[in-house]
Amino acid sequence: MIHLAHHTPGFAAPVVRFAPSPTGRIHIGNARTALLNYFFARKHGGQFILRFDDTDAERSTEEYALGIEVDLEWLGVSPDRKFRQSERFALYDAAAKNLKAAGRLYPCYETPDELERKRRLQIARGAPPVYDRAALSLSAEERAALETSGRKPHWRFRLEPEVVRWDDLIRGDSHIDCASLSDPVLVREDGSYLYTLPSVVDDLDSGVTHIIRGEDHVTNTAVQVQLFRALGAAAAPHFGHHNLLIGADGQGLSKRTGALSIAGLREAGVETLAVAAMATLTGSSIAVHPVHSLPELAGLFDLAAISRNSARFDDEELQALSQRVLHGLAYDSVRDRLEAQDIVGFKAEPFWLAVRGNLTRFADVADWWSVVEGEVGTEPLTDDFRAGATAALPPEPWDETSWGAWTQAVRQTTGLKGKALFHPLRLALTGRESGPELAKLLPLIGRAKVLARLGS
Ligand code: GLU
Repeated sequence: MIHLAHHTPGFAAPVVRFAPSPTGRIHIGNARTALLNYFFARKHGGQFILRFDDTDAERSTEEYALGIEVDLEWLGVSPDRKFRQSERFALYDAAAKNLKAAGRLYPCYETPDELERKRRLQIARGAPPVYDRAALSLSAEERAALETSGRKPHWRFRLEPEVVRWDDLIRGDSHIDCASLSDPVLVREDGSYLYTLPSVVDDLDSGVTHIIRGEDHVTNTAVQVQLFRALGAAAAPHFGHHNLLIGADGQGLSKRTGALSIAGLREAGVETLAVAAMATLTGSSIAVHPVHSLPELAGLFDLAAISRNSARFDDEELQALSQRVLHGLAYDSVRDRLEAQDIVGFKAEPFWLAVRGNLTRFADVADWWSVVEGEVGTEPLTDDFRAGATAALPPEPWDETSWGAWTQAVRQTTGLKGKALFHPLRLALTGRESGPELAKLLPLIGRAKVLARLGS
């Protein structure tokens, strides 16, 4: 959990929410939304709610919901509160009833085919393909006749023909003319709810003050502002729409394909802080760069820095960033992870400082730990070389100067220098062609192992 000291004075504690539908695992684009909300809440001393939009019983699963919680935890996002929409149908039913009574939710009977035909005709005539509200002029008898013939209504929200304006937290002055929108369907024929009504009911009920989400929801905002009002809200929340992350191929990300899922990135060994930095800084005026902690990244947070252009990012850049993050991590911030690999004891910290700069993925520490503490298949030196190296090996205790003193002496006795000197020694001591500075590794390997590996 992140605590940032500075609360903005005169700003009531905000309530924000991240509202994924558990129909897949979240990807780095969803992480952008989650982190921006989380940072916003922390910066202003507010609350962050995790809400599962799981009214679609067919596509939502418990596994995905639990998986998303794991993903958020890995990212360092800890919700102050969480709930599921599937437990709150009574609230949505009550809201729908009120809207019906107020004449804002009206029954429609057109089949998808009929709607499609209308749409084509409108387009052919050069008219905007907006629902013509034919259902509003049905008489009670006509409705009864349709129902007797077996048709079930779906329910549309009657929009006021007005221009809805809001001062978007990211995009600034925004407006949408609702006269150009179709009255949105809120309730399907089978009585199930589309996303809009439950979302607004919950935002209202849970006191959400700021809705920060992707710009694919801009049009929804006009509808939702009207719905907040129709449901009796004194004022709609503030809205902020951030640009969407798109892949290097210019394609948007999808929960369905699993591409760039947080779970997948974690399994591939990408560092959390690289994912978080990439997710929040890409497409902003702050350059993507390695950070050392989530609070450091949260401290950079500024909705005003987010650009209006789409945020293109590259998987290769993410991999490179992950390595740069890894190379800069302090021992304290990885101590638990090292312990989990049984890398403990007095050598653990100098070991980490010696090898971190050579890691591609954190998991590679296990291999270097075995070089220091375990057995390695090494390559023997030639006899003369071995004899010279063994004779010159200084007594312990060793420090980072021991390697230099030793190799200097070996050079003098064997006449070898440069690669001819260092490469066989590295192979003999580590069994690897390249790796961390031997000046740092040597004291960790220790004299007994060095002698054994030299074949002495
Ligand atoms: N469940 C919606 C989504 O995943 C939430 C959108 C919103 O934040 O209002 O897109």
